[in-house]
Amino acid sequence: MSRTLLIAEHDGKNLNPSTAKAVTGALAVGHPVDIAVFADDAAAIAEQAAKLSGVETVIKVERPENKHLLAATLAPQIQALAEGYSHVFMPSTTFGKDVMPRAAALLNSPQVSDIMEVLGSHQFKRPIYANNVIVTVTAPEQATVTGTIRTASFKDAKAEGKAEVSDKTLDVSLPEHTRFLDLEVHKSDRPDLQSAQRVVSGGRGVGNQENFEIIYRIADKLGAGVGASRAAVDAGFVPNDMQVGQTGKIVAPELYMCFGISGAIQHVTGIKDAGTIVAVNKDPDAPIFEIADIGLVGDLFEIIPELEKALD
Ligand SMILES: Cc1cc2nc3c(=O)[nH]c(=O)nc-3n(C[C@H](O)[C@H](O)[C@H](O)COP(=O)(O)OP(=O)(O)OC[C@H]3O[C@@H](n4cnc5c(N)ncnc54)[C@H](O)[C@@H]3O)c2cc1C
Repeated sequence: MSRTLLIAEHDGKNLNPSTAKAVTGALAVGHPVDIAVFADDAAAIAEQAAKLSGVETVIKVERPENKHLLAATLAPQIQALAEGYSHVFMPSTTFGKDVMPRAAALLNSPQVSDIMEVLGSHQFKRPIYANNVIVTVTAPEQATVTGTIRTASFKDAKAEGKAEVSDKTLDVSLPEHTRFLDLEVHKSDRPDLQSAQRVVSGGRGVGNQENFEIIYRIADKLGAGVGASRAAVDAGFVPNDMQVGQTGKIVAPELYMCFGISGAIQHVTGIKDAGTIVAVNKDPDAPIFEIADIGLVGDLFEIIPELEKALD
């Protein structure tokens, strides 16, 4: 039977915006799409998922172990729920990339990661070599297609749907070798980097941790999420969950502003789908200017205060 199952990403209360984008990718396969919400209490999240246009059914899978979702305990539940589905997807977020390969292994199905375009029910485009090469891959027809959908490549599904919500109990015994103990998150009132409409990033050129305040200040003026280059993370200016790029987060905001970032290919990979890229760098030959829509050659410590004045 040709039917697509999309696993919702959420924080226990709200649906992560990546799910709405993944719905658009899942619908491109051309089969009916259901969303599964694994949680201890899935009602509010299922209600949000049911509004996504094009979704037929939202399946709530509630059990206490799903309060804190772990790849090890989610994968066998996905395996059980996947029966009857031809395709099983998750958004290509850090969590999706953790979960789906496990589910794929249990389903004995080859994983198609980072789907950026759907060419047919079993044929997809995906990037390799830090986005330098786009390959077309064909999944075998006889296996369930499992994959992650690159959220930066698809627009949000509209919130105009009215999917049916149902409950499902899965008779699956969960592994006990991996248990949730505690969650330590870097708390921030700023918009989430991967779903923010505006992102401001700083690089090695910012100089040190104290100087990074200037980046936070301009970001707050713009209501933006804050990112950084790997050099800034490695130098300890900011925590590593702020890293943008090949080994960090892929972002696709409407506006991406970067200060003191040279534009190494591994950084640029993470911002390729941004709407407008603004770069400030004191080196006129910095590679970032090759991809920037607006480039300003100058010292960030002079330019940011001027931008702030203009925004006041
Ligand atoms: C396998 C691998 C994976 C990687 N993954 C990532 C990744 O995910 N993300 C990532 O970012 N990098 C990644 N990197 C590292 C990447 O190659 C670069 O080293 C890194 O992006 C450089 O960061 P940067 O631009 O901040 O620093 P630099 O390259 O040192 O550039 C600093 C820039 O700041 C400018 N500058 C200095 N002072 C000022 C000032 N006062 N005003 C304005 N401009 C100023 C300089 O002109 C310079 O262009 C990866 C590398 C490898 C090998």
